[in-house]
Amino acid sequence: MAVDLHAHSAASDGSDTPAELVGLAAQAGLSAIALTDHDTLEGIPEARKEAGRVGIELISGVELACRWDRGGLHIVSLFIEPEAGPLQDRLAEFRAGREVRNRKICRLLKEIGIEIDYPEVLDQAQGDSVGRPHFGALLVAKGYVPDISAAFRDYLGPDGVAYAVRPLLPLEEVVGLVRNSGGVPVLAHPHTLGLNTADEYADFFGKAASYGLVGVECYYSGYSTETRRQLEESIRSFGLLPSGGSDYHGSYKPDLQVGVGKGDLMVPDRILEDLRARRS
Ligand code: AMP
Ligand code: ZN
Ligand code: FE
Ligand code: FE
Repeated sequence: MAVDLHAHSAASDGSDTPAELVGLAAQAGLSAIALTDHDTLEGIPEARKEAGRVGIELISGVELACRWDRGGLHIVSLFIEPEAGPLQDRLAEFRAGREVRNRKICRLLKEIGIEIDYPEVLDQAQGDSVGRPHFGALLVAKGYVPDISAAFRDYLGPDGVAYAVRPLLPLEEVVGLVRNSGGVPVLAHPHTLGLNTADEYADFFGKAASYGLVGVECYYSGYSTETRRQLEESIRSFGLLPSGGSDYHGSYKPDLQVGVGKGDLMVPDRILEDLRARRS
């Protein structure tokens, strides 16, 4: 059996409700799905209820952005339950940082003649964690760009004219918060770190392992067998475990499917069991 340990719902920047996402996971024949929305656990109760109904396991998670020496990165935090805890207590603050950043994006767009009012963005978002993909969808709907990736290229990404940042905690602090909240921190989509050589990856993995990182997404949509093998070999020498997921976002990332990513992803159950054994 297979699992998917990275997926988004309409509680953040996915287009499916939490229950719909769980339904897709069941249809795909998965034994477990992790709901890992950005900076929110809002979708967990609905997802868990549906998982009970359709007979698959729901792993409660959240994806967090943080900073390291060379920029930003994402940590998928598995087994974070929606209850009080050091990390859970910070999520509202992270979402407040999003709101300040999002209002700045509105101002920057307005300066170049693009009218997107914040209430429109909130309406597009539906859930309590509002992000750039929601702006992307509005830019597509209003005819400024053909698709969301063009919206990131021209407006929302680091080279875009309406790029704005929000305050991020350092990697070591985020990893500490996750561990102290009973969660298992996993480095998401390692290709986005901008590392080039095996030595650069090894330096990063060694440092992150010393902070308490537990896993690395070796199985990710679009990664070849060879990439997966190389990543897994490298991380295991630092005592890190492989994780994997599709990073499904529904219509916000239309080329990805639950469980199978771009068609060839398969994350074996054993990966979940090894990560579960590292819960503190
Ligand atoms: P935010 O969390 O608001 O900073 O937005 C970042 C999110 O936008 C990421 O987590 C991805 O889900 C999505 N994203 C980033 N770059 C792109 C891109 N080039 N095309 C589509 N979605 C993207
Ligand atoms: Zn996202
Ligand atoms: Fe991410
Ligand atoms: Fe993600």
